[in-house]
Amino acid sequence: LVESVNLHKDFHGVEVLKGIDMLVAEGEVVCLLGPSGSGKTTFLRCINQLEVFNGGRLYVDGELLGLRDAGGTLHRLPDKQIARQRRQIGMVFQRFNLFPHKTALENVIEGPVQVGGVRKKEAVAEAKVLLERVGLAERADHYPSQLSGGQQQRVAIARALAMKPKLMLFDEPTSALDPELVGEVLAVMRELADDGMTMIVVTHEIAFARDVADRVVFMDGGVVVEEGPPSEVIRAPKHERTKTFLSRIL
Ligand code: ATP
Repeated sequence: LVESVNLHKDFHGVEVLKGIDMLVAEGEVVCLLGPSGSGKTTFLRCINQLEVFNGGRLYVDGELLGLRDAGGTLHRLPDKQIARQRRQIGMVFQRFNLFPHKTALENVIEGPVQVGGVRKKEAVAEAKVLLERVGLAERADHYPSQLSGGQQQRVAIARALAMKPKLMLFDEPTSALDPELVGEVLAVMRELADDGMTMIVVTHEIAFARDVADRVVFMDGGVVVEEGPPSEVIRAPKHERTKTFLSRIL
């Protein structure tokens, strides 16, 4: 579903991604680990075309994404195509980014109604199912300020799912939460994984990566240092940098 070949990205001449190769198959759950600044967020943003990369190739669902070449020329896909591709990708951020003046239910139906052209009645029915799925059926009419951080993040997941994405990107979805609220969000993500959703998850939750990921990718300094099944990368890392990182967070 996602194929990254020698992906390069710089910000004002500073190279942040230095040739990322990665393949994510349909139904696969890949956890991205790595120290702050290693380029994990930037990589997710390239997949979702929130950033334009500078070199290499990136395919999402078989389509080659545009880039800015070495000469600085932008080879961008038509806006319509980008919008269509983005609709297939759900993204959940560290901060929940819900609309504060809308209820949980209204947040969930916003995308399908405004962007997806779904009729409101239908969107509401689907949103209720999704809120039930993330354990928030009773909170549909609450505003974000009336919900805990964990509940807000679960609404954010339901909102992303409302667009029926083929791929879900999670960028440290639990790192802004109080420790006692982390579990409920991870449980929802675990269920999604069990249901066969393709997921790329940037996380420092090693237990989650160990138990849920099909593959763990350790990034440092803009490169993939090591990747493999959790049983290898987490239990028996080969590279010194992976060992050091894991020993710091375990
Ligand atoms: P974190 O866990 O802190 O989010 P990360 O691995 O996700 O780290 P990125 O956020 O991708 O890392 O950042 C990689 C590097 O790119 C950092 O040095 C960061 O300062 C730089 N960077 C990210 N976005 C921009 C930007 N818009 N302009 C300039 N530099 C940026």
